[in-house]
Amino acid sequence: MALNAIQMDLARVHPSPTRLTLALRRTIVNEAMAFITATYNLTPYQRETLATVPIQWKRCRRASRFERGGSHRLIGPRIRLCVPTGKTASWTVYSRRRIGLSPPPQGIQVPIRLFATAVLIHELTHAVQDGLGVMPSRCMSEVETTRNEITYVRSVSPEVFSQLQVMKAKPRRKRRKTAPLIDRQDLGVFMPRGCGLESLWRSVRQLFGERYMRNGA
Ligand SMILES: [Zn+2]
Repeated sequence: MALNAIQMDLARVHPSPTRLTLALRRTIVNEAMAFITATYNLTPYQRETLATVPIQWKRCRRASRFERGGSHRLIGPRIRLCVPTGKTASWTVYSRRRIGLSPPPQGIQVPIRLFATAVLIHELTHAVQDGLGVMPSRCMSEVETTRNEITYVRSVSPEVFSQLQVMKAKPRRKRRKTAPLIDRQDLGVFMPRGCGLESLWRSVRQLFGERYMRNGA
């Protein structure tokens, strides 16, 4: 399914429901699964495997998480999905410079349906990164999870997306004007007087360059 084919009728959730009914949870899961399936071009088998990861729904302000499962393999991977109580929740994402966008520090108030779907996409991305035995596992990265959340929000709610702020570029660090690393006099400590110090000094200069050297002889 193409990304732009995933439509979320936000009008239907205004005013947003307070309760996460079974029907609403199902909608949220379908929405998130459709996004992940399209993003990673999952085969039906991969999609089915991903869909077997149990989701533990919580109404609380704690952080959601994907758990990879115990090393003894008795407990498989699972997702704990935390959605604060109320009709809306404050959506925020990791600050990653490679993404370049982030919500304001206080977050953006969004309907709980949008919040839960974005967070579930985040945790399902971790499940994809984990591989679940049917996909090549990828490195666990919060850049990828954050990018997916933001891509989803942009596709369904341009007005929420427009509230994201462009992250300022990190100011470039000035080169420190400190003492150079290699001092000719220090080098001399290890060499008996007149014993190849010149050639050693030249080699060090070739290796490190002038910038790191001080001719304190
Ligand atoms: Zn994460």
